Amino acid sequence: MDWTQRRVNSEKLSTCERCGLNTQLRKSHAIPDAFFRDLKRSGKGKVTKIHQDFGPRPSSESGWSYILCAQCEMHFNASCDEAAILFVKHTVSKSQLQAIDHSTLALFICSVLWRAQLSSASMYGGYKITKADVDQISSAALGRCDPFMSFSFEVAQLHDEDGNISINQIRKTIAAPYRTEVKIGSNLHTIHYFVAGGVFFSALSPKVPSIVLDHRYLVQGARDVPRVKRSLSSLSNFRKIEAIARREAGSSS
Ligand SMILES: [Zn+2]
Repeated sequence: MDWTQRRVNSEKLSTCERCGLNTQLRKSHAIPDAFFRDLKRSGKGKVTKIHQDFGPRPSSESGWSYILCAQCEMHFNASCDEAAILFVKHTVSKSQLQAIDHSTLALFICSVLWRAQLSSASMYGGYKITKADVDQISSAALGRCDPFMSFSFEVAQLHDEDGNISINQIRKTIAAPYRTEVKIGSNLHTIHYFVAGGVFFSALSPKVPSIVLDHRYLVQGARDVPRVKRSLSSLSNFRKIEAIARREAGSSS
């Protein structure tokens, strides 16, 4: 696999990755800072994060780097971050997913992935993607094409069927974006996913053919509740990153 690792320099006076202006940049978070702030308040300053190198662990890092100018930072905040933050907040407080504009959510997923692959913050260091992934994600995040052209999106509320991980722990979980491959039917898809506030966000490419009637995927232009709960144990990939993380942590020590 031909991985690409273009990380920004993270200098305050630099070129904005969205508009190309050389100016004072803002501290850009890939997964919005609001998720970290909310959880830190209830978690003694720490949130549980699944780190690709160390597995799940408490952390106070919120993962920012200089990526965008003030105006472009505001663009993402207004066009998708704020709506997604409210969506997760209400989902957490009501213990079920809430209605939301699916196109906003799709843009949010792409913009988080786009910022994460550029971010020099250590929590995003494990997110390795290919040049083809970068092109697809950039086009969708920067509005060069509709996100639904390249991806199918799945959003699910996580819970643990076996009861080993409490709802409260899951709500406090943030997992940085990760890329892997999944088989759906007989087709191999690339999946990029992350977790914020116990909600699982993912983008699949190539998109799942719409002849497959599956309510799990977001629908372009729809505005309703994306999907019911999903068990942690159903996420073979989620378990897989834990396993990989533990193995890597073991072999590097
Ligand atoms: Zn800009």
